[in-house]
Amino acid sequence: MALDPESLPDHPTPLLTQEAIAGRVADLAAQIRADYASTRGLHMVCVLKGAFVFFSDLVRQLDRHVTLDFIVVSSYHKAIRSSGEVRLIKDLDTGIEGRDVMIVEDIVDTGLTLTYLQEMFRARRPKTLRTACLLSKPSRRQVDVPVEYVGFTIEDRFVIGYGLDYAERYRNLPYIGVLGE
Ligand code: 5GP
Repeated sequence: MALDPESLPDHPTPLLTQEAIAGRVADLAAQIRADYASTRGLHMVCVLKGAFVFFSDLVRQLDRHVTLDFIVVSSYHKAIRSSGEVRLIKDLDTGIEGRDVMIVEDIVDTGLTLTYLQEMFRARRPKTLRTACLLSKPSRRQVDVPVEYVGFTIEDRFVIGYGLDYAERYRNLPYIGVLGE
């Protein structure tokens, strides 16, 4: 399904406020700091583009031994439903063998993107691999995929804002809103 670009609202209906997101990201950061208290050099990987806001808020609350990398995959294009295809557009800049790695994603929907990424990462033999996702839509899952840190579990609705887009719009919206309602 595609929405008419002319009729996209400037102020989509809020689902999660800036305050709610900030509070939850702080909780996740505290949990990650505690879980990795004895680990030096946690390597955080941002899945672009959707995770860029979540990632930047999260990593600034972790300790200074954290290292960062960015990977670009595409799975949604302009449609509101996933094509089910995952394309690697930009790979990691550095190797992850023997490292403690965390994938940071915006949302896990069918689970296909994360499954693809986790399989690709595991093949490179990191010491540990975990995943943090701001949002999860469990009712849409097609494959079971482990996500150790989940911000919010939401219903099956198309969300935008806080990094998430519709046709490249709304990534800079400071809250998470719902489209098509
Ligand atoms: P999956 O492979 O789990 O079906 O989808 C993951 C990717 O689809 C996410 O990284 C995100 O880019 C996109 N996606 C899934 N649900 C939504 C949604 O409600 N809104 C937006 N903007 N993107 C979504």
